[in-house]
Amino acid sequence: MSDYPHLLSPLELGPLTLRNRVVMGSMHTGLEDAPWHIDRLAAYFAERARGGVGLIVTGGYAPNKRGWLKPFASEMTTRLQAARHQRVTEAVHAEGGAIAMQILHAGRYAYHPFSVSASRKQAPINPFKPSALSAKAVDRTATDFARSVALARKAGYDAVEIMGSEGYLINQFLAARTNDRTDAWGGSTEKRMRFPVEVVRRTRELVGDFPVMYRISLLDLVEDGQTWEETAELASRLEEAGVTAFNTGIGWHEARVPTIITQVPRAAWRSVTARLKAEVSVPVCASNRINTPEVAEEILAAGDADLVSMARPLLADPDFVNKAAAGRADEINTCIACNQACLDHTFSNKTSSCLVNPRACHETLLVLSPARRRESVAVVGAGPAGLATAVSAAERGLAVTLFEKAPQIGGQFRLAMQVPGKEEFAETLRYYARRLEVLEVDVRLSTEAGPDDLGGFDHVVVATGVEPRVPQIEGIDHPKAVSYADVLAGRVTVGRRVAVIGAGGIGVDVSHFLAHDPGETFDDWMAQWGVGDPSLHRGGLTERKPRSVVREVTLVQRKETPIGIGLGKTSGWAHRAVLKQSGVRQVSGATYDRIDDAGLHLTVGGEPQLLEVDHVVVCAGQESVRDLYDALEGPAHLVGGATVHLVGGADVAAELDAKRAIKQGTEVAAALG
Ligand code: NAP
Ligand code: SF4
Repeated sequence: MSDYPHLLSPLELGPLTLRNRVVMGSMHTGLEDAPWHIDRLAAYFAERARGGVGLIVTGGYAPNKRGWLKPFASEMTTRLQAARHQRVTEAVHAEGGAIAMQILHAGRYAYHPFSVSASRKQAPINPFKPSALSAKAVDRTATDFARSVALARKAGYDAVEIMGSEGYLINQFLAARTNDRTDAWGGSTEKRMRFPVEVVRRTRELVGDFPVMYRISLLDLVEDGQTWEETAELASRLEEAGVTAFNTGIGWHEARVPTIITQVPRAAWRSVTARLKAEVSVPVCASNRINTPEVAEEILAAGDADLVSMARPLLADPDFVNKAAAGRADEINTCIACNQACLDHTFSNKTSSCLVNPRACHETLLVLSPARRRESVAVVGAGPAGLATAVSAAERGLAVTLFEKAPQIGGQFRLAMQVPGKEEFAETLRYYARRLEVLEVDVRLSTEAGPDDLGGFDHVVVATGVEPRVPQIEGIDHPKAVSYADVLAGRVTVGRRVAVIGAGGIGVDVSHFLAHDPGETFDDWMAQWGVGDPSLHRGGLTERKPRSVVREVTLVQRKETPIGIGLGKTSGWAHRAVLKQSGVRQVSGATYDRIDDAGLHLTVGGEPQLLEVDHVVVCAGQESVRDLYDALEGPAHLVGGATVHLVGGADVAAELDAKRAIKQGTEVAAALG
């Protein structure tokens, strides 16, 4: 008996039988946008199909040029494009999988000057102002959707998903926020619904019983969004028009409520999905912040949904489903919802990948091929870079010994997972610990490897990480001054009034950690972000409740720039908002004068200031730890002619981040032997 009987049971979507309830949700990777990437795209999807996923949904393809996400972005408008896509559909079918194409019109989110929408209202997150579609053009656009679906079927796709959520064109027609028309396509709730209903009706007319999934926005999370009654009415009309199943979306891209990043509680939106399920008779798919088979199974078992969509978790681990089915869920490389290599890349015009799996979208470029000989590899340091190297090398069949000075693996990740809302980082360490065990890596904890311990290995990879930088400030050795590492590791207890020196990623995280009330509940989280019942509040938005905090925190930096501007593109705004909600005082352009019994003395704008604090937490970046590497550089220690590699923070501390560390470790492991 499987641990996930609901998740692994088949489901019929019209003529299509899915082998299980796992949908790999749509995710624009950038590979969709160029014809020359079609084989990379096919390899990316084929690997997920091989991993057992029930239904894959592609990134968005525009039904016409005005609907492009950016200039020359993906579209499905010609027979030639459909013929090219056969490479994708055949690759997925060869692995026993099924794949749906998502048809997406960007509307006012299009990043080009020819964007169109229901009105001329510009999106707050886009510098381009759209033109308002004429009534005729709206009509043509509905037909374009149907034609794209027909072409997708021709290309061999098993289904389509019509993108009606996240604030794209269809959503723009539905909400008064963006639709102020007075013609047949706006002016009343009923007329605002006409466009999506026409899209589905014409599609159904053209493609017969072909499965058509519609992604419906359950909570817009923007002002003047839809009410629940409108959403329920829309769902019923769409079902009548011929929708085979509903996928669900939460929040427009411009919403200022986080919906998918780590700090969003797992399965936060399931109750609203259950509400839709009660309104319709076709299958409903839950989405957003579902990242383990346990959570997915629980949602299905409770009857809240019929399918579960996971996009990023399938980037993180293409074998998610097979591992769950084989009783190896503890070997799943879990998505930690960081957005750093997926959505941050997408929104910066870079090809997506995954922080914990740098092979994602690079399947044909970063290959862990079996090693020719079982050579020996010593990896020194079990932080993210060392762990990635050790596991990737062992997966290739190399004999790996991993040395770690500390009694546990994890390095900087062990600190990161202490930050509220970053608990998911613990999953990465669980994954690595289990893989090391399964791959029989010789792990030597509490062992500081010196040059003499490394003789006889064919390869040595130095991943000795970083240590916190100690800035030259008078009084830095005062008992009030403590390092972020000691604070996060729980080695020191910090008083009620705190100053934080350095406002990089860690300074921001530590400020949140210090202010955070550990008694915060799920309901508190929703209330802090102003999420309310969409029956009572349009768009599901209500007044925000103040956050409860346990410390007074002042975050200080020397730069004049606003604090936190260097944080992730798609998550930085939420971290900055948390600081504000937590009442963290922010000081830029400071010079540190001294730390003494009174607190932290600063000069800001030529004026001396005293922060009367109990502690000063130093988050002033890191320095590489390279003693071992320096010692190994002399050939005297390279017994047997081992090659020595340097990875992670030990290599570059200035831009230390786990994305670079894990990628570098994996690449080094791929090239060994
Ligand atoms: P960081 O980003 O390099 O920031 C350290 C800050 O300390 C600098 O911004 C600098 O600001 C200040 N500083 C540097 N030298 C100093 C000195 N001698 N005296 C006083 N202040 C000094 O490093 P981090 O915050 O430790 O983060 C390390 C890495 O972890 C980051 O690069 C990031 O990639 C990763 N990280 C990311 C996130 C995330 O949310 N994505 C979260 C945590 C960590 P001023 O010069 O302006 O004072
Ligand atoms: Fe998940 Fe982060 Fe990977 Fe994106 S980059 S798939 S959020 S782990």
